[in-house]
Amino acid sequence: MRTYWKLDTHGDPLGAARDFMGEVWEQANLAGMLLPLDGTNPSSSGEKRPLFTQDKAALDSANPFTPLMTINAARLVPKLLTEYKGEKVGAVLRPCEHRALVEMVKHDNFDLDSLVTLSFDCLGTFPDVEYDWRAKRKGSSSQLAQATMQFARQGGIAAYRYRSACQMCAMPVAQGADINVAVIGLPIRQHVLVHTRNGLTEKLDLAGITAGPAPAELVEQYERMAAKLIERRHSTRERVSHTLRDNIPEDVDNLITLLEECGDCQTCMDACPICAVDYPQKDTSGRLQRNDVMRWLVSCAGCGMCEQACENHLPLAAIFTTIREQLDEATHYTPGESLYEELPVFEVE
Ligand code: SF4
Ligand code: SF4
Ligand code: SF4
Repeated sequence: MRTYWKLDTHGDPLGAARDFMGEVWEQANLAGMLLPLDGTNPSSSGEKRPLFTQDKAALDSANPFTPLMTINAARLVPKLLTEYKGEKVGAVLRPCEHRALVEMVKHDNFDLDSLVTLSFDCLGTFPDVEYDWRAKRKGSSSQLAQATMQFARQGGIAAYRYRSACQMCAMPVAQGADINVAVIGLPIRQHVLVHTRNGLTEKLDLAGITAGPAPAELVEQYERMAAKLIERRHSTRERVSHTLRDNIPEDVDNLITLLEECGDCQTCMDACPICAVDYPQKDTSGRLQRNDVMRWLVSCAGCGMCEQACENHLPLAAIFTTIREQLDEATHYTPGESLYEELPVFEVE
């Protein structure tokens, strides 16, 4: 059974999250950490993209609750592991980024032994333009992140304005990383919950960092609210798929035809973390290879970076989710769930 630890936040959940990331950094003896930034700290020059840093001062501008996702940070991990070979490094990833990382490992066969992953429940992210507008209205990106955190109990703010991938994200809860921080449904100004995977994290002194094992009622509250949120997201996903069903490709072959109609544009693939390690190839006639497309989309982490990048504004999150669900059904494979579940093999037709 999973053990949850209670982390007191003393009225400042972001401060507590930063201190916690710092403790993990210290205790795991990391050479550096890949951090989500909110662009509020002058030393980060307004940077909002995730950044790998060896400077612990950067934790002052790290914000795992920023409602903005500029890239899928999992894309940065393979290069990081090569550059810091022989050292231990950390990465703070959203749930969809962690799912992507798990799938990337299976496509590219790199090992994660020297990586410590830390994930926070995700309260959702806005499209870039909406984010800038909201941050301006609130006064700053930091205030927007603070406002988002106030809605942790409900699982996020203004969900209907989120990126469509987030509206349909059926797994916004942190659960597969080495260390996971639960916030959904919790009174985060008082406390959040921490839980871990086995392995290196057993060596972390969680009893020392946290306020000890969490009371059963807090865990029950969290699990109940997280389950409700997941159910809501499933309904949204079904509603969106139903609304679009006449206008989106209903199978892999139709999807390949749609992508072919895009000509030379492959921006969605360029933005995708799975394609970053296993790019779908074309056959001699220039048509995307069916097996490559299936191998790509069976691993789709649902992050929506493809849709965010598409200049034609195609509803790619819904399209790829629909195709992935078909592939899941046929193969009984759930992307991002386990490092040990092998990728399905697709026969050449
Ligand atoms: S897709 Fe899910 S995990 Fe990723 S940013 Fe959106 S809500 Fe968060
Ligand atoms: S296909 Fe799109 S949603 Fe799926 S992992 Fe790639 S970028 Fe993310
Ligand atoms: S980014 Fe959009 S326009 Fe470009 S190939 Fe992908 S779906 Fe087509």
